[in-house]
Amino acid sequence: MLVSAKEMLTKAKAGHYAVGQFNINNLEWTKAILQTAQECNSPVILGVSEGAGKYMCGFKTVASMVKAMVEDLKITVPVALHLDHGSYEGAKACIEAGFSSIMFDGSHYPIDENVAKTTELVSICEEKGISIEAEVGAIGGEEDGVVGAGECADPDECKMIADLGVTMLAAGIGNIHGKYPANWAGLSFSTLAAVQEKTGAMPLVLHGGTGIPAEQIKKAIDLGVSKINVNTECQLAFAAATRGYVEAGKDLKGKGFDPRKLLAPGVEAIKATVKEKMELFGSVNKA
Ligand SMILES: [Zn+2]
Repeated sequence: MLVSAKEMLTKAKAGHYAVGQFNINNLEWTKAILQTAQECNSPVILGVSEGAGKYMCGFKTVASMVKAMVEDLKITVPVALHLDHGSYEGAKACIEAGFSSIMFDGSHYPIDENVAKTTELVSICEEKGISIEAEVGAIGGEEDGVVGAGECADPDECKMIADLGVTMLAAGIGNIHGKYPANWAGLSFSTLAAVQEKTGAMPLVLHGGTGIPAEQIKKAIDLGVSKINVNTECQLAFAAATRGYVEAGKDLKGKGFDPRKLLAPGVEAIKATVKEKMELFGSVNKA
């Protein structure tokens, strides 16, 4: 059974650790992340972008696959299925399809419109017991075609959105999606502290977890981050391992072309990445 992210994040906040959101792209990705969460006895959030949802045939296919996989693999740790950077329409479609958590990314709307749409979605989610994440201040890098520069959120706007009753809040603190450039200034801890001071007990979300140095991750958790999104790092690990397999000519030996063999090193690489992150975030044995 899928659960809302509310309880796992409330526990994480109180216990000073963070729960990882790992984005999924296909069956192999999903299986690798679920098995690692179970092995680590860690709660987990599976993230699905609208693009990945489309790639996997649609949100219904995704929800059915994840629910069935949790059952077939006998996964007992808490699992939330979460829409990542959802549009207003996408959020409604995921609620309909059986997701247990959504993100409504209204950061590109004027604040009044962001407030109105978030308010409506909060009331739908409350009724259904689904958690909802909102975003204030665009996260830099590319989010499904929208490129931002890594701005810092206005703490007062964060409070306004937090007060609408969202479960968790993503605030831009200089973080960006994808690989960080060499001249990146690092996370703005003064912004994070100011946002947390205004929003109180609200679990904060750190997007763009790939390539943020471990010390900055730990400091962010100390300052109130309870959910950290990891996407690119699993992709890089999968691609490198698959490249290694092909470059070593293993697909040309025996039945090395069998997809179950061809994709296995990539799957192992995802598992290793997820485990490393769960250890860094402190969520191991917190299921
Ligand atoms: Zn993001």
